[in-house]
Amino acid sequence: EAVIRLFNVSKRFGAKLALSNITLDIQKGEWLYVTGPSGAGKSTLLKLFYLGEKTTSGQVLAFGTNMNRLARKDIPFLRRRFGIIFQDFKLIPNRNVFDNVALVLEARGEPRNMIDKRTRNILRHAGMDKRMDAMPASLSGGEQQRVAVARAIAGQPEVILADEPTGSLDPKSAEIIIGLLSAYHEKGATVMVATHDRDLLARKKGRIIRLEEGRLVEPSTGEGGAP
Ligand code: ADP
Ligand code: ADP
Repeated sequence: EAVIRLFNVSKRFGAKLALSNITLDIQKGEWLYVTGPSGAGKSTLLKLFYLGEKTTSGQVLAFGTNMNRLARKDIPFLRRRFGIIFQDFKLIPNRNVFDNVALVLEARGEPRNMIDKRTRNILRHAGMDKRMDAMPASLSGGEQQRVAVARAIAGQPEVILADEPTGSLDPKSAEIIIGLLSAYHEKGATVMVATHDRDLLARKKGRIIRLEEGRLVEPSTGEGGAP
């Protein structure tokens, strides 16, 4: 069962062809790596799924819905089905750790006691329950990313999109982040990780696809060729 399908998708920014004629199915429960050099189109690919960008041509189906036909009012509901993680964390700087996670649930109108319970629970899983009152700037990069993962998971999304989630982290922190994502994946979520980090590919098994200059290319032998 495919959760996301792309048919002949291209994306152009002015004269730049960022993605060229991509056809791809992502199965429910899959762990998928998107590899390729910087500028290959990895971030752009992930953005198409939740309408962070629109295709120039071709179709993206997410959960059976054609993104070209999704009404503007339905975009927030689509986005709730994704948990998104960025290399630079994107925590809200003037909110503490607890609020960064809880706000996702508040935005959905969840009851207060449920928000508190789930936020504490998830921060405990992420090993950040002792830092719930801390402001993001006082945390290390690895800690900030643990909070960002907790926030992405809090709404129990079906699909996690992680764009270079370990790109700015030390190996130990990277391992913690992949561990958290793996635990969520094991509960049945689909996880897509864009990365050019070879170590990451060795750390956790999954399907590997590779972009080069916007084209999907067959990975070479072994673990997918040079990142
Ligand atoms: P990657 O994530 O693999 O590094 P990106 O998807 O970020 O690659 O970028 C693919 C190409 O598209 C690059 O040449 C990049 O400069 C270009 N690009 C991405 N976003 C934009 C944008 N908003 N405007 C113009 N060009 C863009
Ligand atoms: P516990 O039994 O330890 O209280 P559960 O496993 O029932 O916790 O999960 C409680 C909440 O924490 C759920 O919302 C669940 O999605 C979340 N959760 C569970 N495991 C993880 C994990 N590894 N990373 C992040 N959140 C998790």
